[in-house]
Amino acid sequence: MAEETIFSKIIRREIPADIVYQDELVTAFRDIAPKAPTHILLVPNILIPTTNDTVAGHEATLGRMITVAAKIAKDEGIAEDGYRLIINCNQHGGQEVYHIHLHLVGGRPLGPMLA
Ligand code: C5P
Repeated sequence: MAEETIFSKIIRREIPADIVYQDELVTAFRDIAPKAPTHILLVPNILIPTTNDTVAGHEATLGRMITVAAKIAKDEGIAEDGYRLIINCNQHGGQEVYHIHLHLVGGRPLGPMLA
């Protein structure tokens, strides 16, 4: 059984976070250290530590993360100019919090992906 992270407490609203969206599958909140004018994290409400832990039964939740990200991008006014969606996995991917999260980053030109 994987250990909970701080994101589970945010999802349950046990600690403060700037939650911009929540439904029965996913929660979205503003990153505490934003790398761009819009930097929002979308997380499954259930704990899935990394993309390596995903199974077919997670597809509805993982798909919801993308469709909600697109809705939030529109709400934030960054959809037309564009944005980046990123999921980091494990050490080489730069993952720091072991509860899958999709970064929605935009509001400025982001440059080449691997710069
Ligand atoms: O993909 P990675 O695991 O590196 O990203 C973790 C992200 O979670 C960071 O951008 C960090 O600023 C954010 N974070 C947060 N609120 C916390 C802890 C981390 O927004 N309480």
